[in-house]
Amino acid sequence: MKVVAYSIKPFEKEFLAKANQKKHDITLISNPLGPDTAIFAQGKDAVVVFTNDDVSAPVVEKLADLGIKYIATRSAGTDHIDKDAAGKRGIKLANVPAYSPQAIAEHTAALALSLSRHIVKADQHSHHFDFKLDELIGFNFFGKTVGLIGLGHIGHATAAIFKGLGCKVIAYDVVTPADTQGIEMVSLEELLKTADVISLHAPLTPQTRHLINKDTIALMKPGVMLLNTSRGALVDTAAAVDALEQGRIGYLGLDVYENEKGLFFEDHERDTNHDPLLARLMAHPNVIVTPHQAFLTNEALQQIADQTIKNLDQWQNNKCVGNACVCAKNCRVVPVNIETTVN
Ligand code: NAD
Repeated sequence: MKVVAYSIKPFEKEFLAKANQKKHDITLISNPLGPDTAIFAQGKDAVVVFTNDDVSAPVVEKLADLGIKYIATRSAGTDHIDKDAAGKRGIKLANVPAYSPQAIAEHTAALALSLSRHIVKADQHSHHFDFKLDELIGFNFFGKTVGLIGLGHIGHATAAIFKGLGCKVIAYDVVTPADTQGIEMVSLEELLKTADVISLHAPLTPQTRHLINKDTIALMKPGVMLLNTSRGALVDTAAAVDALEQGRIGYLGLDVYENEKGLFFEDHERDTNHDPLLARLMAHPNVIVTPHQAFLTNEALQQIADQTIKNLDQWQNNKCVGNACVCAKNCRVVPVNIETTVN
């Protein structure tokens, strides 16, 4: 299959080469997909994209006009793709539904522990030979209530870590998962009112967009810790900044930001203007922002590359894969079975 893969970072190349074994003819380019770069798909069967690529309806139309039949995203989330537009033009979609959920769960825990123990500030002070203990008092997670919004693959992996720390884990999901051992399922309202730590693990959908807003923040315990490693737009960032300034949110750990497209994954240090909302947010000492890196482990990167190539293999054999297409119900879908355990 002839393929162009967009937004490829140098570190991804070896993982993709190992997965591909020269089966598919893949052109790797660093440019993101967008209206101006869609032309690179000319003569190809498939495009491979990532979360911050522009796969909106106009771009999907351009790809379809260029003869693209398949779009594979190297991510679990598919919110960056206009699925209806793809469905209308008969373009098949595939994602990587469950790669190493532990990678994202462990990053969530890293944000939580770094915030609670002021690790960033302590390290900065230590590097200046300032070993005072002032302003470094933390809190124990043991005995705290952790509320997970979304109890899928990553929610479960996150629950396991916080249970290990001796937390009470509660969760809210629109679907009750088969396995909720040691996790109490509660309503969204109860979770917001009772959790000391709230961690978001739901996909971005019209229902979850700005799920965390002025009204839902008002229900939270004063001084709550809020963690988001899912998608930026689950949080109304302006409302979160207001809540930080009022002390309603005590700690904020973000791996994703609602306006991250065109910003994250690149060095913008020398830009004359910095995103004012993000700058205001990061001015708070009790905020940690990481650049959508929760997936960035060797294990996860190899699983992403392996599954992406498997998706291309299935299409090459005229089979559908996963359930990312809007037309999935009409397809002969091959269930995706990938090893999600990290050794
Ligand atoms: P998953 O599909 O296994 O689980 C998502 C869960 O959210 C499901 O149980 C679903 O029922 C639930 N859900 C859906 N709508 C909801 C709602 N309105 N309220 C509450 N729960 C709802 O997905 P996953 O693998 O656990 O991934 C979760 C999200 O994490 C992905 O959608 C993606 O956006 C994000 N993610 C981020 C990174 C990163 O690097 N930061 C990496 C991978 C995934």
